[in-house]
Amino acid sequence: MSTEIKVPFTRPSINEEEEKAVLEVIRSGWLTTGKVTLAFEKEFSDFMNSGLKEKNVMSLAVNSNTSGMILAMHACGVKPGTAVITTPYTFVSTAACAKHLGADVIFCDIEKDSYNIDPDKIQKILEENEKSRKYNIKAIVPVHIAGTLCNMKRILELAKKYNLRVIEDAAHSFPSLTESGYAGTLGDCGVFSFYATKPLTTGEGGMVCTKDPELLRTMQIMRLHGMDRTTWDRYTSPKASWQYDIVAPGYKFNLPDILSAIGRVQLKKTEEFYQKRKHICDIYNREFSKIDFVEIPPDTEGNAWHLYLLRLKLDKLKINRDDFSKQLQENGIGVSMHFIPLFHFSYWQSLDSSFTKDNYPNAEDHFIRTITLPLWPDMSDEMAYETIEAVKKIGKENYAG
Ligand SMILES: *Cc1c(COP(=O)(O)O)cnc(C)c1O
Repeated sequence: MSTEIKVPFTRPSINEEEEKAVLEVIRSGWLTTGKVTLAFEKEFSDFMNSGLKEKNVMSLAVNSNTSGMILAMHACGVKPGTAVITTPYTFVSTAACAKHLGADVIFCDIEKDSYNIDPDKIQKILEENEKSRKYNIKAIVPVHIAGTLCNMKRILELAKKYNLRVIEDAAHSFPSLTESGYAGTLGDCGVFSFYATKPLTTGEGGMVCTKDPELLRTMQIMRLHGMDRTTWDRYTSPKASWQYDIVAPGYKFNLPDILSAIGRVQLKKTEEFYQKRKHICDIYNREFSKIDFVEIPPDTEGNAWHLYLLRLKLDKLKINRDDFSKQLQENGIGVSMHFIPLFHFSYWQSLDSSFTKDNYPNAEDHFIRTITLPLWPDMSDEMAYETIEAVKKIGKENYAG
């Protein structure tokens, strides 16, 4: 049976403005990283700094969140013989980046009532490690799932006490403004994703933010082959373009101007996109809080409302999450699941026999009852109500009381 999708799960909000900006770059004769990317970085920093008293955030454009995380971890000293602490309830790249650098990953369960890493459990890991000296832990890597902020106050306190770096995976939290500034500027480094489904998109892309000039310099060099000069600088400075030194075995992680052009236009629409997503979430929250077989998502200071994660109360239903999800799709509602915890993947299981769902009960509990509903800026109210009606209908037909 083929069902027509009436409410797509997500759609990018891109129009003639982005098209025009890309065309300008294509016609300019300079396609790779150059002045448009420099302007994008500057504008991104200005945006991040608008939430701060000290305007000291600096940004580095990269070709994905994944490559940005590798740069940030590298700059923070993550390497063979070290370890990072992160959550199993994330997209796999968060943990894989530490592996790419030869480091170990210590997984820490999420909080019972949020999607995010539990500071009490981080503390327990750090206290135990202080006795056993098993790992040389370098960094805590919190992920602000769905746009909800991790308990950064506690995480930063722990990092200070144990002399650790904090690298925020801010792929979901743009824009997430808190009392201390935007998420992604609260730790040593914060990394955003501009992947097609993210709150700001360039198709593929990302941005690393830091307030530390030394970290920035290392990441800048590692972003482009370990060169001490950028390509733009080499072709525009009076110094001959072939002169450069290689100071490290670097990567190729730069963001081309064609994509930065899209990003600059998208950045201007941040508040509009945020308000539109929030509007849809307000409708969802209002209607779903009237239903007894679902739980509305937790909210936090500065929630970016990137994803709407609906939790089923399985004891009130005769069907499980997979069947509920399938029936939503059969009703024309595009759904997804964030995330399959990493202990369900064979590679990550193969590294550690204790990496099982029983040892991460909160991540597992969240996983087995969560469905991600359609949410995107240009989604109509009618589509939100259509989704709500489908949830109500399926719940009613499969109600266990
Ligand atoms: C999308 C995502 C990433 C990866 O982003 P890319 O830009 O595709 O590399 C990392 N972490 C989380 C939590 C994500 O959702």
